[in-house]
Amino acid sequence: MSSRMCAGVAPRLRRAWAVLLACALLSPAGAALALDPGLPPERYTVTRWSADDGLPHSQVHDIVQTDDGFLWIATWEGTVRFDGRQFREVEALNHAEGRRLPSRLFWRDADGSFLAAVDHLGLRRVLADGAVRPACTGFPRLDAMRVAAGRDGRAWVAARDGLYRVGGEGDCIRVEGGASLVAQPVLALVAHPDGSLWVGNRRGLHRWNGGELEPLGERLGLPRGEVRVLETTREGDIWVGGDAGAWRYRQGRLERHRSERVEGLLEDRQGAVWVAATESRMLRFWKGRWQALDARHGVEGYATGALYEGREGLVWFGTTHGLFRVSDGPVWGVGRQHGLPTDYIRSLLQTRDGQVWIGHSGGLSRMRGADIEEVYPKQGQPRGSVLSLARAADGGVWAGTYNRGVLHVGAGPAAPVRALGGVDGRLATEQVRVLAEDAQGTLWIGTERGLMAWRRGVLEVEPLPGLPALPVRALHWTGNGRMWVGFLGGLARVEPDGRVEVLQAERDYPALSALDFLPASGGGLWIASDRGLLRHDAAGFRLYGREQGLSGSTVFRILGDDFDNLWISGNDGVTRIPLAAFDAVDQGRSARLDLQGFTRDDGMPSRQANGGSAPAGWRMHDGELWLPTARGIAVFDPRRVMDALDGVVSLVVDDLVVDGAPLAPGQLQALPAGARLGIGFTGISLRNPGGLRYRYRMHGLDAGWIEAAHAGEVTYTNLPPGPLGFELQVARAPVDWSRPAGTARLELEVAAPWWSRPDARAAMVAGLLLLFAGIHQWLGRHQRARQRRLETRVAQRTEELREKNRQLEDASRQRELLMEQLAHQASHDPLTGLPNRRASDQDLAAAIGQSEAGGAPMCVAIIDIDRFKDINDRHGHLAGDRVLARVAGQLHASLQYPAAFIGRTGGEEFTVVIRGTRLQDAVLRLERARRDVAALRIAPDGEVLACTISIGVAERARGEGADALLRRADRALYDAKQRGRDRVVAV
Ligand code: GH3
Ligand code: MG
Ligand code: MG
Repeated sequence: MSSRMCAGVAPRLRRAWAVLLACALLSPAGAALALDPGLPPERYTVTRWSADDGLPHSQVHDIVQTDDGFLWIATWEGTVRFDGRQFREVEALNHAEGRRLPSRLFWRDADGSFLAAVDHLGLRRVLADGAVRPACTGFPRLDAMRVAAGRDGRAWVAARDGLYRVGGEGDCIRVEGGASLVAQPVLALVAHPDGSLWVGNRRGLHRWNGGELEPLGERLGLPRGEVRVLETTREGDIWVGGDAGAWRYRQGRLERHRSERVEGLLEDRQGAVWVAATESRMLRFWKGRWQALDARHGVEGYATGALYEGREGLVWFGTTHGLFRVSDGPVWGVGRQHGLPTDYIRSLLQTRDGQVWIGHSGGLSRMRGADIEEVYPKQGQPRGSVLSLARAADGGVWAGTYNRGVLHVGAGPAAPVRALGGVDGRLATEQVRVLAEDAQGTLWIGTERGLMAWRRGVLEVEPLPGLPALPVRALHWTGNGRMWVGFLGGLARVEPDGRVEVLQAERDYPALSALDFLPASGGGLWIASDRGLLRHDAAGFRLYGREQGLSGSTVFRILGDDFDNLWISGNDGVTRIPLAAFDAVDQGRSARLDLQGFTRDDGMPSRQANGGSAPAGWRMHDGELWLPTARGIAVFDPRRVMDALDGVVSLVVDDLVVDGAPLAPGQLQALPAGARLGIGFTGISLRNPGGLRYRYRMHGLDAGWIEAAHAGEVTYTNLPPGPLGFELQVARAPVDWSRPAGTARLELEVAAPWWSRPDARAAMVAGLLLLFAGIHQWLGRHQRARQRRLETRVAQRTEELREKNRQLEDASRQRELLMEQLAHQASHDPLTGLPNRRASDQDLAAAIGQSEAGGAPMCVAIIDIDRFKDINDRHGHLAGDRVLARVAGQLHASLQYPAAFIGRTGGEEFTVVIRGTRLQDAVLRLERARRDVAALRIAPDGEVLACTISIGVAERARGEGADALLRRADRALYDAKQRGRDRVVAV
């Protein structure tokens, strides 16, 4: 959006946040989204927010969404605005005489504004920019009970004292004959195409026409009872809901569809009709079929009738127990509600026939389509917990148990379950965590005491001498016949000839345990470890762990998809990592992996994925990824995940604070000089609010983009005079900044100090000229005799004026000096006089920019004084300070020519940026500086001291950013310290 549009919007604003909201709002999100009615309710995720999550009250009366993406919620304790994460009170609708006011209903108008019925305040109109005013100027406290759209788009309002028509400009009229409505409170209202109004009240369904209210329900066969809701559909049907259930009126006939009491009705974009039934049931009618969401899905409380479809296609509803969202997120859960005997899932796999086998704490289940059947234990059999699974060559499966050894289940529907070696055999004492049948028909059995084998009907307890007897967690064969064995605390390879190679933890590979293997697409192997993800290839092992942005906790399972992603599971959930993100880290383009984490917001039944028994997840024939969790199976559809990345996010700048005070509308373009400016922003994606990332920059001030993981506030102090542009972007994680999901820009103008303004200076000069002219005239009018005297006086006066002017200029110069000093102080360290960290970061960023643009080399060094703590300890802090200052002075002297930038970036740490220089030259210069410092003799307290420094230096690689570069220099410094200090180490 252009700055001109912002400027154009500003004068109409009433509230600061609204100004920016209007300015910053980008394109509205894709409107075509909708819940897929073809999905069974099990595929939906119901999420609830209650008073415990920030709602002012759990009883939700109504819901509406505005074009900027905010959801507005009417509750018993007032109105709030919701951005997906936080509820914010709407004061203009809440506090009258310091009270919180229940709000009752919302009605969205075609122009993006909406009507809100608030107790005591009456009917209000909330404009698209957030401003609030009475909906009807002539009837400021209109007590609305129901609102319905007329055929002309204007609202009908059934109020407690009659019927009204509401115009957009606040011009409302009282409809004649409306008084006939007031005998019974109006509970439901729709405009019929024939020009009449259909009215629901306690006595049932009525028709209002030109002042007459006549009963309609009984004539159409509707039993007595309250009619609480009416909804027209695009096909011209009218749905009637209330005590008598849900009825559909079509072609002159009313027909019953449901018998339970109904509070809310909604036709969604796909044409499905949603019915909020009183007690914890949300029903949906589509293509002649009814489906229900209920307590099993997390629906709770008594329906209030609040039912709304948001622009992202999600269905929202309210009950006495909170606000609910129905989403068909990229993830859904399979658990007890689908027929699994338990939610604690350990392992699963799909056999070639399409059946899914599920190992859990209650045994083994088999899933065909949506049907789940218990395979083990059968009724009457003792309970047994299944840990691991493997495909059997005969089409069935092997199942490893907790204390019943290994079971075999055949492929057929009634195939028997058979225990390998008998239920009391040697195997029955083992916990079997991994199973794998190899091409020769040997079944490899991973137990807590090492790897065993079942060969030709015999159990071999130590089939591969030399393998450690550690708990086995993973088995994998590579194309060349080599077997990898992952242990809790170990890793080994078995060559095709049986030779065993045990790798030593932390020496041969940078981890302890190996829990899963997945072939890498470019060759090599991914390994799930206790430190993160390992990659093994010809170059050895590489770890992607905490430093690269993973949580650093154990990875249980690695799966691939068709979209070039890796999916990993762990105790902290499931994470998607694009393969390209690994390349970016490997090539030094990025310090951290870009990733997408999934939470309950996305539909995960539980964040905690289970691992430790194989296979802890499976890639299904149709591409879905199934991962066991502590509360059922999390099913991911990678295609939906990728599709969801494309939706537009609206970006709202909803707070502007100048010097502690919210910015008033008119001041948007003229901030006082030296102001402190706070800018609060948020992106709105109600579908996935946790997955947004932000970056911003103040053009004219910030050297580059500044990234932020969360919405929030950014503060600028000491803004320089002149125009400034604040640019903000939002993207979905994992972030691809070349395709932001939303962008906003804010134009600002900071005023110059008064004395430096050109008009102030011009006025001064003009004043002087006028004065001279005056004097000249005055002279002409006097005699010559007095001329000399006068001339003297004029000269005096002129001199005085000059003096005054000089003083003015002096004052102005002093101010400039002061400003300069302040600027210097802000960027320099007082002890050493060197630039501080901030200045140093800026110089580094600028140098990187230059090097990137021009291709010139550059180096960065980090210098740290050796054993400086000893100097402090032995001679006192003051002496330490003097030493610091001397060392800083020496560094400055030694590195000054040709120019290098030296900043004090830590206590006794300095950063040097050397532009246009290759590594070997930088090392020579730094080596000289090191020698110069070592040669210093400092006598801070009488005793003569010498001190040394260690230096780590790195040359910038193409594309490398400041963080990565500094990190390499820091690592070199660490090396220098490790190798005995007083040296330069280059990387
Ligand atoms: P190393 O060779 O490993 O760098 O040893 P060191 O003692 O120099 O390192 P360490 O980081 O343990 O100690 C740095 C000390 O520097 C600790 C802190 O008290 C001191 N220091 C940091 N800033 C100042 C300062 O401004 N003045 C003084 N006098 N001491 C400082
Ligand atoms: Mg240090
Ligand atoms: Mg030190």
